[in-house]
Amino acid sequence: PVFQRAHFLSAASGLDHAPPDTGAEVAFAGRSNAGKSSALNALCHQNRLARTSKTPGRTQQLIFFQLDDEHRLVDLPGYGFAKVSVAIKTGWQQLMANYLAERQSLHGLVVLMDIRHPLTDIDRQMLAWGQDAALPLLVLLTKADKLKRGAVDRTLHQVRRELTELPPGSQLLAFSATKALGIESSQAWISEQLTR
Ligand code: GDP
Repeated sequence: PVFQRAHFLSAASGLDHAPPDTGAEVAFAGRSNAGKSSALNALCHQNRLARTSKTPGRTQQLIFFQLDDEHRLVDLPGYGFAKVSVAIKTGWQQLMANYLAERQSLHGLVVLMDIRHPLTDIDRQMLAWGQDAALPLLVLLTKADKLKRGAVDRTLHQVRRELTELPPGSQLLAFSATKALGIESSQAWISEQLTR
C-alpha cells in the first residue's frame, strides 16, 4: 500500500453505513488531542487528510480513507472529552465495541497515547477491546519530542512493563509527527497488517 495515495472514502455513523467489509483496514484510536490526526497526516505525507474536531463529541463517526482498492485506514472517533453527555459516551462505547468485535476486514489497531500521560482508564479500555478481538496492536506514545531522550526511554519501559498481554504481532513505539520519529516503523507495521 502507498500511504501518499490515501484519500477520503466515506464517513459512517455505524457499521451498517461502513464500506463493504472486504480487503483489509487498520484503525486509529486515541483520546482527543492525543495527536491522532497529526499522526495520520504524517504517515500519509499529507497536511489536511485527517482534520481535528474542535467540537467535543460531535464527530462520533468512523472516517474511512482509501489507500487502494484493497486497503483502508480508519480514523475512529476520539474519546475522553470530559464534558460530553452520558448518551454520547454510551453511543461511543457501543460504536467502538461493535466495530472492533465485528469488522472482519480490521487487521490491526493503532492506539495513540500522549507520552506525557499514557494509559488512562479509557486507553486501557480501548487496549482491552483490541486484546479481546485478538487484534495486533501498535501502541504509539505520541509527541515524544516533548520529552528528553531519557524520559522517553523510561516511559517506553514503564508502558512495556504494564502491557504484558498484548496480542501477537503487537508493537510499542515512541512517535512524533513534528520530528518525524517512528514514521517508517509505523508504516512498516501497518503495511504488514494490511497485507497479511
Ligand atoms: P487529535 O485530536 O488526536 O487528532 O490530535 P491532533 O493531531 O489534532 O493534535 C492535538 C494537538 O497536539 C495539536 O495542537 C497538535 O499540534 C499537537 N501535536 C500533535 N502531534 C504532535 C507532535 O508530534 N509533537 C508536538 N509537539 N505536538 C503535537
